Amino acid sequence: MNLRSVLSLFAITAAIGAGVVTPASADPAPLDACYTWGRTLSEGASGDDVRQLQIRVAGYPGYGGVLALDGQFGPGTKAAVTRFQQAYGLGADGIAGPATFSKIYELQDNDCTPVNFTYDELNNCNSDWSGGNVSAATARANALVSMWKLQAMRHAMGDRPIDVNGGFRSVSCNNAVGGAPASRHLYGDAVDLGAGSQGFCALARQARNHGFSEILGPGYVGHDDHVHVAHRSTRFWSAPSCGVSREGVEELPADR
Ligand SMILES: [Zn+2]
Repeated sequence: MNLRSVLSLFAITAAIGAGVVTPASADPAPLDACYTWGRTLSEGASGDDVRQLQIRVAGYPGYGGVLALDGQFGPGTKAAVTRFQQAYGLGADGIAGPATFSKIYELQDNDCTPVNFTYDELNNCNSDWSGGNVSAATARANALVSMWKLQAMRHAMGDRPIDVNGGFRSVSCNNAVGGAPASRHLYGDAVDLGAGSQGFCALARQARNHGFSEILGPGYVGHDDHVHVAHRSTRFWSAPSCGVSREGVEELPADR
């Protein structure tokens, strides 16, 4: 959320109160309550600001891709920024400048989640993200990345709401629902999706374009009633009833 508009409104209100109406000051530096970028970023740049950008464009790696969140602005990041810009009708030059950052500010809430997803809906197990296979901070960070991927997917599918049924699980929550011992839900990056208005197969197919290396859906054991998307080190896609084929190198235990 952009603070500038809030501050401008405040200034105008104050000015009206004083009997003088003045326009908002010309093009002040954008401020954002979540994160504010201080420089234009292009190929060759590195740093935490690059990594923050990579998280926001993690849903734009192209079909089958996964964007590295390494703080190094390489060709993959340039391509992802370009796809983000194209998706929102911005000048698509692969350089993240004021127009790109303004769009990101518009898309993010004050807790850095994208506007259409929340930490709460990605965790119906506990309130503090503890007890999984990673620290609570890591689980939350992983969930944040998945939310940005979902935001990209949502936009690509016409900005219709995506139905989230859950995400993070502690070991005890995972055991309680019979989840696989290595379930990505224990890491915070797995999200289970309801059919919504899109339908399971449209979701499973679309997810291939948005950085999800794990996609399980109809036709895969235990997944006829939801689509599971997550991150894993090697790709594993299986939703045979949807034409989403298995391309992983190992058999994954059934996950619910
Ligand atoms: Zn799942």
